[in-house]
Amino acid sequence: MTTTQVGIVGAGPAGMLVATLLRRAGVDCVVVEQRDRAYVEQRSRGGTVEHRVVDLLRRHDLAGGLLATGQVENKIEFRMAGRRYPLRYDPVAQGRSHYIYPQQFLVRDLVEAYLADGGDLRFETPARVITGIEGDRPRIEVESPSGGSEVIECDVVVGADGEYGVARRTVPAGALHAYEHQYGYAWLAVLAQAPPSSDCVINSIHESGSCVHVRRTPEVSRFYLQCARDDTTEDWPEERIWKEIRLRLALDEPWTLHEGPILSTGTVRMRSLVCAPMRHGSLFLAGDAAHVVPPVGGKGFNVALADAEELALGLMDRFLRHDHERLDAYSPTRLARIWRVQEFVHWMMDLVNTPGLGTPAAPFLHRVQMARLERIVASPPYGAAFLEDYIGYW
Ligand SMILES: Cc1cc2nc3c(=O)[nH]c(=O)nc-3n(C[C@H](O)[C@H](O)[C@H](O)COP(=O)(O)OP(=O)(O)OC[C@H]3O[C@@H](n4cnc5c(N)ncnc54)[C@H](O)[C@@H]3O)c2cc1C
Repeated sequence: MTTTQVGIVGAGPAGMLVATLLRRAGVDCVVVEQRDRAYVEQRSRGGTVEHRVVDLLRRHDLAGGLLATGQVENKIEFRMAGRRYPLRYDPVAQGRSHYIYPQQFLVRDLVEAYLADGGDLRFETPARVITGIEGDRPRIEVESPSGGSEVIECDVVVGADGEYGVARRTVPAGALHAYEHQYGYAWLAVLAQAPPSSDCVINSIHESGSCVHVRRTPEVSRFYLQCARDDTTEDWPEERIWKEIRLRLALDEPWTLHEGPILSTGTVRMRSLVCAPMRHGSLFLAGDAAHVVPPVGGKGFNVALADAEELALGLMDRFLRHDHERLDAYSPTRLARIWRVQEFVHWMMDLVNTPGLGTPAAPFLHRVQMARLERIVASPPYGAAFLEDYIGYW
């Protein structure tokens, strides 16, 4: 049996940031991760980093990789009916920008920093059960890489094991409320070995459904295509993917779409979820384990990291200064922020995606969507309100 102060389930962005901060502060912790190191360091998901998360990483001296190779993004482009609608962040942003830095690169940086500090990180070690969370010595029962089982006994468990992990399911029925909203469509997420075709994100509004184009690295681009909720990757052969991307991003002026081999495709069910409270006894939930937003607006990874910092600071107060106040306020502090993000993403879903796709209401809703975009571009106060949320002002 291993004993520690904080047992962390999941080595994604949230789990690794909590672990790295605790380790540096001298709080003892153990991280267990079900997958191997190569998998977590190569899993391509988000990559749009808000300025306040860049500041957070800078504060903790963890922004080296991001600042060295991340690409600055200071505008967003919409497309509709063959026209571009660019929106520059300034003057609203006053110099603040996004960074494009793939999520898996940040996970790699955090894993390296944690291990360099002597941290205990166990890959290929899935947590099977978490017990005793209503007491003060909870236990994580894990399967070790050799197939045996082991127990990690701790003071606090951090459930940072993503949308489908075990931690949230450990909370007794009735003690946690899951607020959920399902959208009637999905996104096909496509990663292509093709240089980006734009120096900023493109959100194209189209009656066939949205198309979003995002930079990842100078050689790799991401595309999202709105599709039917039950579509599978078999419904989307390579030829169909490029045909739809060309159609939905089309402009009435010359422009070049860079195409290339498709590296991966997957479908993303569009759903929003908030589990409240984010704490039960000695279990604290962080990141996707507690809340999920659809990828529109690039918020999920950013809120996961913000949870992680707040939780780590609360745990430091508790273990190093015997002060429980910040940790006790963790769930209400973060939920206030998370509901604000949920409100914005919910609104932006109807801006970018064609609502009611495939239903008789779609032509009407598409025109409402077009009018909303016209208003963002035509009205400086409305455009500024959009940018404040999109850039992540508060
Ligand atoms: C296609 C796609 C694109 C996205 N794009 C963006 C974007 O542009 N910007 C943005 O901000 N967000 C984006 N997101 C959302 C973002 O990726 C997530 O919000 C983020 O990964 C959450 O981090 P996390 O650490 O909470 O969870 P995760 O990244 O899911 O990490 C959880 C970890 O826990 C591990 N785990 C699970 N169960 C167990 C167990 N039983 N035992 C041990 N380990 C376990 C998992 O293997 C995983 O490593 C996107 C998501 C998807 C799917």
